[in-house]
Amino acid sequence: MMRQKLLSEGAKELSYEIREIVKKAEVIQKLGQTIYWENIGDPVQKNNEVPEWMKDILKDLLSKNETYSYCHSKGVLNTRKFLAEKTNALGGVQISPDDILFFNGLGDAIAKVYQYLVPTSRIIGPSPAYSTHSSAEAAHAYHDPITYKLDPDNHWYPDLDDLYNKVKYNPTIVGILIINPDNPTGMVYPKKTLERIVEIAREFNLFLLSDEIYINITYNGVKTFALAEVIGDVPGLAMKGISKEFPWPGARCGWVEYYNRDKEPEFNRFCIALDNAKMIEVCSTKLPQLAIPLIMTHPNFIKYREEVNCKIGRRSKIITGYLSEIPELRFNETFGAFYNTIIFKEGTLNPHQKLKINNPAIEEIVENWVNNPNMALDKRFVYYLLAATGICVVPISSFCSELKGFRITLLEENEDLLHNIFSRLRESIKEYLKS
Ligand code: PLP
Repeated sequence: MMRQKLLSEGAKELSYEIREIVKKAEVIQKLGQTIYWENIGDPVQKNNEVPEWMKDILKDLLSKNETYSYCHSKGVLNTRKFLAEKTNALGGVQISPDDILFFNGLGDAIAKVYQYLVPTSRIIGPSPAYSTHSSAEAAHAYHDPITYKLDPDNHWYPDLDDLYNKVKYNPTIVGILIINPDNPTGMVYPKKTLERIVEIAREFNLFLLSDEIYINITYNGVKTFALAEVIGDVPGLAMKGISKEFPWPGARCGWVEYYNRDKEPEFNRFCIALDNAKMIEVCSTKLPQLAIPLIMTHPNFIKYREEVNCKIGRRSKIITGYLSEIPELRFNETFGAFYNTIIFKEGTLNPHQKLKINNPAIEEIVENWVNNPNMALDKRFVYYLLAATGICVVPISSFCSELKGFRITLLEENEDLLHNIFSRLRESIKEYLKS
């Protein structure tokens, strides 16, 4: 027995089903089933080829001695200057390089932002929720996350009345989280919606937190409005990164931009605490920071990004073709990021549905997993799908949502395989619902 309790109360709030499901898939894989990884948003794992010109930039940086040293604790100054100018060119809120802080990926930024808030001060976020945000927020508060609804019957746009009422009647809320474009729904916030959210923040003296890691990943004719363009004089933090856009998730590099820190001393103190938290760690990864201006100003970059976005859009249409006509599903077309969240209509799932599994060893394991009366019905479907077909998706009930469904990705580069996966998914849904 230990002298004192070790674990913080908040630790039980930490869960990340996007990776948890991998443990289950690995068990099935060992028994001989090929797995189709539709669970994780890593384009490189899904055969996205990093272009040669990008690799050449990195090779060149690696040949220089200074690449190997620490950098300024807030991040490489030249890169912060470059990024501040990019934000300022949007014509909205204006920032200086001092208003930018680099992190080891947004995962690191998210952990620190919630960690340094007082436990009694809450950030309301969207539901379904990207679990890195909702888990970190819940862990800091020792409580379930507080969420506003994204509405599957209205393009997954936020339910602004729900948001307003929750903010109004819950004085612990100090900030509103926006994920734009959104993970897991693929929704892009319309400008009017963002303006209304800014208004709510202004009315109740809140700050805004906008995760914009997918900001340049839009398709099918839509563009994202950045928080910087709509925020006016309200305090805010925008989170940006290169994991999805280059894509270089293994670089572990992202940054936070502070907006209007001069307008609100308490908010400014919070920004300084984030700077100090990074200072005691010395600094974040330097190589990707050195690469950012070189890659973003390379003559091929814009065209490259447009081509990749166009391919994501094309895959979104193929997937729509397979899944939008199933009457038991609520399906929305997507316009940003590279996920889609598909919901089973109420009453269509029950705890007796099954898929035929040809391998008896796999069948036995899955029967064991689902032998739990408290298991969410979408998780049950996800386990059967995994066991019967090897298609690995993530249940939506694990994204802080009462809805039942699953998240897929739009990343499969091999079009034949994409058709194969989604036609099998469609047939499996039909078989499961009829069983
Ligand atoms: N924010 C969102 C909305 C994400 O979807 C992800 C990764 O999937 C992250 C942040 C984490 O990004 P990073 O690789 O910079 O830690």
